[in-house]
Amino acid sequence: MKLRVYIFIMLLLALFVNYDINNNLYLYRKEVLPLFTEKSDATYSIVIDPGHGGIDKGTSYQDLYEKDINLKIGLYLKEYLEDKGVKVYMTREEDILLSLREIGDFVNDIKPHAFISIHVNSFKEPSYDGFSAFYYSEGGFQKEERIELAQIIQEEVSNSGLWFDREIKEQNIAVLRYSNYPCALLEIGFMTNEKDRERLTNENILKTTGESIGKGILKYVTLKN
Ligand SMILES: [Zn+2]
Repeated sequence: MKLRVYIFIMLLLALFVNYDINNNLYLYRKEVLPLFTEKSDATYSIVIDPGHGGIDKGTSYQDLYEKDINLKIGLYLKEYLEDKGVKVYMTREEDILLSLREIGDFVNDIKPHAFISIHVNSFKEPSYDGFSAFYYSEGGFQKEERIELAQIIQEEVSNSGLWFDREIKEQNIAVLRYSNYPCALLEIGFMTNEKDRERLTNENILKTTGESIGKGILKYVTLKN
């Protein structure tokens, strides 16, 4: 072997053996690679879906639209989770409409630790008020996880003292059916109830609600992973 080729190979080996940045870029140090994998501090990933949008206003009262409230709470929730180091993916951050199938595909592409869809309820009887986390488990799929996710969020929101506790409920909801990952749909207050409507227009309450939901999600993902 020519000397120059030999020196070149030795230099290459020396370079790789010692090359180590962020504990991620190494060749021989540990038994297996990840060679050049991306280092991320985000341990958990969450998808947030602020329900409705665009021409679909959701439920409404005069010029108060569900789609706008959902987005506000969703953004407060995002802020809270990102502050805790969670990687957050929003289905929308502006006034646009995605189909439920598109939302399901978005979730399944990301493969999050949890998926949360945010809504406001309404009912013909105006005395109905409060907060409910809905789950759905088709044929028992992820039943335990989904109930647990809904239950933990329900408890945290109930602890905030802001909303009447309507308890968790099972309902066959398309967006939950499409998701391959643990998920819950939250109905935050009733647009048809006067007191809830006041809460839904109070930024502090929306922020605290977003934070309570975030606490629940964090508790769930920490427990499960
Ligand atoms: Zn809705």
